[in-house]
Amino acid sequence: MYLEEKKLLIEYGRKMSEEGLSTGTSGNLSIFIPDEKVVLITPSGIGYFDIEVEDIVVIDLDGKVIEGKRKPSSEWHLHTLFYKNKGHARAVVHTHSVFCSTLASLRMPIKAVHYVVADTEAYEVPCAPYRRYGTEALAKVAVEAAGKCNAVLLANHGIVACGNNIKAAYGLAKEMEYVAEIQVRAMSVGRPFVLTRDEMDEVSEGFKSYGQVKRELS
Ligand code: 13P
Ligand code: ZN
Repeated sequence: MYLEEKKLLIEYGRKMSEEGLSTGTSGNLSIFIPDEKVVLITPSGIGYFDIEVEDIVVIDLDGKVIEGKRKPSSEWHLHTLFYKNKGHARAVVHTHSVFCSTLASLRMPIKAVHYVVADTEAYEVPCAPYRRYGTEALAKVAVEAAGKCNAVLLANHGIVACGNNIKAAYGLAKEMEYVAEIQVRAMSVGRPFVLTRDEMDEVSEGFKSYGQVKRELS
């Protein structure tokens, strides 16, 4: 069941490790199948190069295991609450990437220091208050802090991003790591200029007709 989606989770999990967004077993990924209301999620505590198709766990939106022998990611609350609250979300990616985690340790949002923040569909990426990893409390504060933004920082932890598919969710997590790095580097030598809300609205307008019309992250 869901072989294609399981393979995609493995592919993007490996990409996350290879591209330096995750070390060890940190981070997790999921894909939502709206028709059956099930979530395919990476298993807890297994390195991304060790995960095989049969290790991907299928759960319902309450975290009940439908298929698979492995324990699902400890962040299943976070993933399922995103799907319950963000109607368009079909994939969620969570990483401990270095610069997002740096800003998250300062409990500081990723600001509009670069115009591509507009890809989140919000003015900036907020930082949710601290709650222990793997708790429902963390999921609640994350979804609440995210609001309409498609990404949110988790205090002293990392970032969560969602999208219409795994490529978009992963692409957004990676792009926000790029912006977080710019922000941290700029802050280390001075005070970065932050684009205004009007300037960012103008960017969002521009994105509607940018490139081959439909903007795709990779
Ligand atoms: P899992 O291995 O349980 O997915 O946990 C990793 C993580 O990032 C917890 O926040
Ligand atoms: Zn984590």
